[in-house]
Amino acid sequence: MSACIWCQKEIAIKLSITDLLMFKKLQPRTVCESCMKRFELLDFSSVCPDCSRRQTSSEVCSDCLKWRKQSPDYLFRHQAIFAYNAFAKEWMERFKFDGDIRVASMIAPTLKEAVEKITNVETVVPIPIASSSLAKRGFNQMEIMLNYAGVKYSTLLENRSSGENQATKSRLERLAMEQPFKLKDDHAVHSIKGQRLVVVDDVYTTGRTIRYAAECLVDAGAASVQTVSLFR
Ligand SMILES: [Zn+2]
Ligand SMILES: [Zn+2]
Repeated sequence: MSACIWCQKEIAIKLSITDLLMFKKLQPRTVCESCMKRFELLDFSSVCPDCSRRQTSSEVCSDCLKWRKQSPDYLFRHQAIFAYNAFAKEWMERFKFDGDIRVASMIAPTLKEAVEKITNVETVVPIPIASSSLAKRGFNQMEIMLNYAGVKYSTLLENRSSGENQATKSRLERLAMEQPFKLKDDHAVHSIKGQRLVVVDDVYTTGRTIRYAAECLVDAGAASVQTVSLFR
């Protein structure tokens, strides 16, 4: 028996007949069923295909129609995994701001699955955080997530922004920000040519950040860039 990392209650292991018959190796779980249920998986039949916004249809949303007009040559496809609901915000608070990195293990398997489902991916690139944020927090949350998920990644990008808190900015201020990303070094410049990449981030808000990261990589010669976020 082990305790749930979130609520500390004992995790009951329910074995099905199939588990018993298959002698399946059981993955050690770190989160109980009722805590896991508080994360809401997005349903692909009712989200915008470009940005995973929740809506009643699966048509491109009005924001994405604007993005498409702005960069007609680049087909942006973003996949978010969970809804950014109240529990997700609480989880993020504990992970990112309180620095309890163990909670990453709660959804790391779901992230791994989502990344592995994307075909032909050669390199996974976590979104870098500003150096001032890194100094304050001590870690890049997406690198921690990928470590817990057991997904190999390359830190090819650098974030040159001043690291002012995005959360306090208005939608317009976020959209007006300048391109904060550049390739980290010569090695990064050489290694992305012709590569199929997946960029991963924590939350898709306006899309501005993750689109800048994708644009930076496409402009530098990546063959394709898909993006994934934990939340939308
Ligand atoms: Zn729990
Ligand atoms: Zn959209």
